[in-house]
Amino acid sequence: MTEKKTKISLALHGGCGVMALEDMTQQEWEEAYEHLKQALQAGWKILQQGGNSLDAVQASVCVMEDSIYFNAGFGAALNGDGKHELDAAIMEGSTLAAGAICGAKHIRNPVLAARRLLDDGEAVLLSGSGADAYAKEQGLACVESDYFTTPRRVEALEAMRRHQIAGTYKTARESEKHGTVGAVALDATGHLAAATSTGGYTNKPVGRVGDSPLIGAGTYARDGVCAISCTGQGEYFIRNVVAYDIAARMIYAGENLQSASTHKIMGEFHNMGVGAGLIAIDANGEVTAPYNTLGMFRAWITSEGYAVVASHDQLYQFNL
Ligand code: ASP
Repeated sequence: MTEKKTKISLALHGGCGVMALEDMTQQEWEEAYEHLKQALQAGWKILQQGGNSLDAVQASVCVMEDSIYFNAGFGAALNGDGKHELDAAIMEGSTLAAGAICGAKHIRNPVLAARRLLDDGEAVLLSGSGADAYAKEQGLACVESDYFTTPRRVEALEAMRRHQIAGTYKTARESEKHGTVGAVALDATGHLAAATSTGGYTNKPVGRVGDSPLIGAGTYARDGVCAISCTGQGEYFIRNVVAYDIAARMIYAGENLQSASTHKIMGEFHNMGVGAGLIAIDANGEVTAPYNTLGMFRAWITSEGYAVVASHDQLYQFNL
């Protein structure tokens, strides 16, 4: 039986812990935008060629994990011990198959290990040395942990330690604190998928696991409903089971994607002072990307060929 053709859509985020405009040079902003565009291109090419949403989100996240500008893979945040502990998840909406890893120290592209777990169909989430050993056994690229370290992340850790001593954590910029990358997609056969990858927040306690690898908290996809990838202080996303909560509002309360997402990010979290954002796509390929911080790296493209890239309020349209 041939599957029904639907619209295709892809959306990405590079975290809501975006820098203030003056904190990066013009050249750095241009390069960060370029990397976002490359990530969009990588996933879009797959969708356009009739590929599936799972491969598309994986390809997009891999490009962002390899970029110095985003807090995932290369350039990930450092924990309180000055080390990296990486989290990632990927989920497919037609079968609810999922794979995730947390606290990994050596997997060059954490999303690839999550994908292998999804394909294996046994364990959903592997942690720490178990995740690293699994990736190695699967023949995925593994690196020494200092591969992930960049001068900007070292500075951010020092800044957070100063805030800790001075008791000024609340005044720290979102960019000093955290970031994440994520992708959501709808393919031509109507299947939704989501993937998220992160270094967590700067100066996080050793062993801390965020929302990104927790299915239903920071990552969720369900055909006929939506695919979601979240960014922001993970503890709030875990307690509020945000990604699933948005899907549940749509399923049980009949809300649309935009209102369910806006309610959480611009309503509840904004009122609580929680810096947060997400990207999501519904079953019709509609995209939403709310955030309540200074900015959120984001990009999306839909069947209409409308490609957008942004970090702060201004949206830049471009041709893919
Ligand atoms: N959600 C991530 C975490 O808590 C961080 C972020 O998105 O900024 O690990």
